[in-house]
Amino acid sequence: MQVLSVASEVFPLVKTGGLADVVGALPAALAPHGIRTRTLVPGYPAVMAKARKPLKRAGFDDLFGGPASILTVDHQGLDLLVLDAPHLFDRDGGPYVDGNGRDYPDNFRRFAALSLAAAEIAGGLLADWTPDLVHAHDWQSALAPVYMRFGAARAVPSILTIHNIAFQGQFGAEIFSELALPPEAFSIDYVEYFGDVGFLKGGLQAASAITTVSPSYAGEILEPEFGMGFEGLLTARASSLYGIVNGIDTDVWNPQTDPHIAGTYGSASLKKRHANRKALSARFDFDDAPGPIFCVVSRLTWQKGMDVLIEVIDDIVGNGGKLAVLGSGDPVIEVAFKAAAARHPRRVGIVVGYDEPLSHLMQAGADAILIPSRFEPCGLTQLYGLRYGCVPVVARTGGLADTIVDANAAALGAGCATGFQFSPVSAASLRRTLRRVFTAYGQPKVWSRLQTQGMKSDVSWNGSAQAYADLYSSLLAKG
Ligand code: ADP
Repeated sequence: MQVLSVASEVFPLVKTGGLADVVGALPAALAPHGIRTRTLVPGYPAVMAKARKPLKRAGFDDLFGGPASILTVDHQGLDLLVLDAPHLFDRDGGPYVDGNGRDYPDNFRRFAALSLAAAEIAGGLLADWTPDLVHAHDWQSALAPVYMRFGAARAVPSILTIHNIAFQGQFGAEIFSELALPPEAFSIDYVEYFGDVGFLKGGLQAASAITTVSPSYAGEILEPEFGMGFEGLLTARASSLYGIVNGIDTDVWNPQTDPHIAGTYGSASLKKRHANRKALSARFDFDDAPGPIFCVVSRLTWQKGMDVLIEVIDDIVGNGGKLAVLGSGDPVIEVAFKAAAARHPRRVGIVVGYDEPLSHLMQAGADAILIPSRFEPCGLTQLYGLRYGCVPVVARTGGLADTIVDANAAALGAGCATGFQFSPVSAASLRRTLRRVFTAYGQPKVWSRLQTQGMKSDVSWNGSAQAYADLYSSLLAKG
């Protein structure tokens, strides 16, 4: 089976969040199922820099304002198709925002171009390869299923995966004339959304099937609280909506071989984690008092519940804990963490920025990872936590609810607990759960059992790759 995956990020070349990890890991996970995935991504500078021997496979004279080509690039086992369109993608700044954090004003053109290129490939643009199915991810590639409906790829099945429904790709109606779609596409059945143009909206209508990244989130987005306006549309399409939990790349995230940590270890050699605690403490200038080190590796946003965590920092320190934060995002939240660090020298620290190697050391050196998200489609950092014996303390929502077994008395007794869940997302409820965490940490046998149980959890792609393979096959069988 030949699949075209299309996305705006792919690990290890361009990453702002979990989307990149998933897009980067799925091809290898699907290969044993007889599925060859080629991944279409924008030719950002970071991607072009890795394109050592690019082969031009097709060209566009004018793709949304300039010439463009499709290049094939192999990078670390990834079979990439790169949309080289310098007028759209050759820019300083991030994939979506400029150096000042502002959305590029032509994002609609940039990602319509990506989507159109995918639809053209599905329709036979490349002389030597046509996919059987297109798998699009998030709003940036959500127009692919729409373009397919109106082009040569009409009969090719498509899947749209929602990694986070909060990002919808909404633009004023005036951009519609630039999208090269027929007038009937500006309707409730396609991209029209309350008088505007909605990229995600169009994709959700046009895709043969919709997936999201955990079973709980697939249920939650049918409700107004989580559906963010799409609950009605998704309820109408519920028979084509699937929740498939993300896995992680267990080679990249392996405490027994990880080159980014101070000392490698496994579930049978948990004592060796100590070298990582020391390295982490040095990095954050912590003292060497005992007590649990909590960590956060996250976008610092309201979604992630960081404001709630800030309210309990004094309790964490008051109970003998420490807090190491790695992240960036909302400036107000960054300032609040910095103020807490100033209030609690050698006990609380924050590194503002994005640091992949440090994110590994955090999981290896901290005792617990805090994830108080208000909503979480899947979440990856709790899965890394499980794999590294860094016990997840999570809000009971979305993929967090699906992947962590709460350490209540029954689960502890049965030996199946892997972390702590709390609900609702409030300071009072988090505080209550932290009391349970401190109690468990004070009982070394209980704690190490939690760690080893987590490390035994299957966080690989094995089960989920099978689920995607089954879905692909069922769509192809429907013809
Ligand atoms: P989301 O995609 O909503 O941001 P996920 O938990 O699904 O959240 O994925 C976040 C990914 O980004 C994880 O791989 C996490 O380790 C990584 N990450 C988040 N913030 C940072 C950071 N500041 N430095 C390094 N990695 C980070």
